[in-house]
Amino acid sequence: MQKIFLTLLIFSACIFNGNAQKKKANPYNLPITATIQEYQGECVKNGQNTLIDIQKVIPGIQLDIRYATANNFTGRQVYSFPNAFLRKPAADSLVAVQKELASMGLGLKIFDAYRPYTATLLFHEIVKDTLFAASPATGSRHNRGCSVDVSLVDLKTGAELAMPTEYDNFTAKAGARYPDLQLTVLQNRDLLIRVMDKHGFKVMPSEWWHFDFNGWQSFSLMDLSAEELVVK
Ligand SMILES: [Zn+2]
Repeated sequence: MQKIFLTLLIFSACIFNGNAQKKKANPYNLPITATIQEYQGECVKNGQNTLIDIQKVIPGIQLDIRYATANNFTGRQVYSFPNAFLRKPAADSLVAVQKELASMGLGLKIFDAYRPYTATLLFHEIVKDTLFAASPATGSRHNRGCSVDVSLVDLKTGAELAMPTEYDNFTAKAGARYPDLQLTVLQNRDLLIRVMDKHGFKVMPSEWWHFDFNGWQSFSLMDLSAEELVVK
């Protein structure tokens, strides 16, 4: 039995070596988990490393994964699958956020969650700025499966609540403490920030929609596509 398992493991390793593993760029020589085998090894060592598909733990959650469409600042489709993954403890906390919001008739809408390092390299190439796109020299917390880009929706209508800006608006108005806003907009933004913070997510000062999970430092940078994660 063990022998069969081993043969299967080697066989699937060969498939990935010949296919998905087309030399991923790592110009800064960062410690990056870039193969499904490395990732699975990390999960065996510590189950907290597992990337959870958010739709599986929050059924019906609204996803608007912009990078899986051309409707994003790059103008092209970056992801082949529109999934939202987060590491296990971050996913658990997001479940708690959704539960608390539901008691107010509200819910989350996700724009992005785990992001492969390859995408961070691409974004930096386009934006050439580290305020709105993470530096590829350090990698993004999205690459660690610990960041999530979200907004609030009305659970009944599905409509997004009024927020200061559109997603990926690279201006001062996107700041988490930008003061010159209509009262309702301010209240909506601050409610999102307060509930996320209560469950372990800190807002990024320059982007009201971006949240980092406390303890992100203990998770590795990753460069596996959603496609590789889905078919693993
Ligand atoms: Zn983000």
